Amino acid sequence: MSKKIIIFFGPPGSGKGTQAGMLARITDWKKISTGDLFRAEILAGTKIGKVADKYTKVGKLVPDKITLNLVEKSLKQKALGFIFDGFPRNRQQLKDLLVIFKKALKKNDQIYAIEVAVSDKEVKQRLSQRRMCACGKVYHLVYNPPINGGVCDICGAKLFIRNDDKPKVIAHRLKLYHDESKYMLGYWQKQNKLIKIGGEQSIKKIHEEIMEKLKGLKLI
Ligand code: AMP
Repeated sequence: MSKKIIIFFGPPGSGKGTQAGMLARITDWKKISTGDLFRAEILAGTKIGKVADKYTKVGKLVPDKITLNLVEKSLKQKALGFIFDGFPRNRQQLKDLLVIFKKALKKNDQIYAIEVAVSDKEVKQRLSQRRMCACGKVYHLVYNPPINGGVCDICGAKLFIRNDDKPKVIAHRLKLYHDESKYMLGYWQKQNKLIKIGGEQSIKKIHEEIMEKLKGLKLI
């Protein structure tokens, strides 16, 4: 059976991580989220986490070499498919990923990119209301609020604002996304492998659209 690779693109706060997670649960493909991998390293206080913390705090990209190492390790897992969330983030990472794919994938394996499109205005609104729990659960104070004020519904821990969700950092992350995504989306578009989805709909509706498109392409 051919392997399936889905690469999610979208600005920070577009909900691509949520969609990647939903798709992973349905398909049993492995999700590779570089942001989650870095947050786990930071929480665990590892050597990689200490370096990553300096960059993520200010919304800058962690050096490519460190990121690529984590991705390569994750790709060694046994799975029928992989879902990328937050990687590749720039031209160099795309080039590096294509080299890895060339080595690791077979001719009939299929790679598709999904763009979850959301306007800058909506991104700023969403991220300023986002709250996180150390257990990984994400809340939105308006659309998906915790039941008991500032604590997590699942584990009861105090919720926090991600350092990189502060307004100045958001603006920087958005600029970074626009600067780099143009080239990468253009690349998949030229290969006729780009699926564009409107990200300003409900989570359920976006998920249904993604499923419909993937079924149409006989990927699931
Ligand atoms: P995310 O959760 O995807 O928004 O990522 C949070 C932070 O992790 C980013 O602002 C970066 O500092 C770091 N990060 C995530 N993915 C990458 C990547 N592909 N390359 C470099 N840094 C990354």
